[in-house]
Amino acid sequence: MDVDRDVNLPVEGRIAAGSLDRGSGTAPRFSSSEKGLGILLDLFDEVGIRAVLFVEGRTAQKIDLGSVSRHQIGFHGMDHEDLTGKSTGVEFDDFALEDVLRQGYDSVRDKAGKVECFRAPYMSADDRILSHVSSLGVGYDSSFYAAPGDCAPHMHPSGIKEFPVPEGRDETGKKMAAYLWPMHEGRRGPSDYIWQAGTVDGPYVLATHSWHMVESRSDGPMDPARIGENVSDVRSVIEGLLDSGYRCSVFHRSHGLRCDSRRSHVLARRRFGDVDESVDVVGIGLGEFAYLFEEVIAGEAQAVELVRPSDLVLLPDPVLNHARLGERRDRP
Ligand SMILES: [Zn+2]
Repeated sequence: MDVDRDVNLPVEGRIAAGSLDRGSGTAPRFSSSEKGLGILLDLFDEVGIRAVLFVEGRTAQKIDLGSVSRHQIGFHGMDHEDLTGKSTGVEFDDFALEDVLRQGYDSVRDKAGKVECFRAPYMSADDRILSHVSSLGVGYDSSFYAAPGDCAPHMHPSGIKEFPVPEGRDETGKKMAAYLWPMHEGRRGPSDYIWQAGTVDGPYVLATHSWHMVESRSDGPMDPARIGENVSDVRSVIEGLLDSGYRCSVFHRSHGLRCDSRRSHVLARRRFGDVDESVDVVGIGLGEFAYLFEEVIAGEAQAVELVRPSDLVLLPDPVLNHARLGERRDRP
């Protein structure tokens, strides 16, 4: 979820983004973002999921982030900059880029805690930007769209792990991304997203903006009835995905793990305290297998030991290899 200034938009010739002019200019507003965040955090608690919050640095200074500690934290620029300059015409040299990213990172860390992820404002990024983000110690990025068949998480050369947002076509051939934007504007329903998730090879990275829970881009602030419908629609998407067998997860190094499905009877064993549990890796599917490693890395299980590790194909990833050896490791 992007937690940024209300109905943000790039302003030509300026570094900082504005908010959509509703009669008093484009100065940034933050009240819808704060109100929508509270609504979504309550919903996530009710359905029992964790989310990844991409928080803009300035927004972090303006709104209450006291309830976000359960979630994974990312940053989203300092003033919602158009980092590639495509829309504003403002170009960042390496020094300016480093400066603005550092400010955004520090601001979010000060207000929300450890920063693990990044999403570029406007999904506008390139290799140079990712390299700068990686040098801040951020492990995950989600700043790019990818076709549904190409959404497996992958390592960027900078060492940051990329989680693309799916963008393809809906059942009628109309362009569709995994952003809930059109649903908040009344132009799509929950079933569109549940259908789309089934077309994606890799995790389904579903995205939205906190302000969009209470303010429509085209119609302005929503009345309580419309907010209620909006919440109900988001709940339907999440519950529909969970009912379809999806497991909700924050970004993790183990995502993208591949298993050689030609083999059979590959076993893993995980230990919780004194309890050993054997799991048939092929039988439980690749997503579940990746989850085993998450448990170890998150410290919930003490070890996952592959009984026949030679049968598995692992992506080159030091954290995973650590897990493969059955050792416990704290979250990276
Ligand atoms: Zn944004």
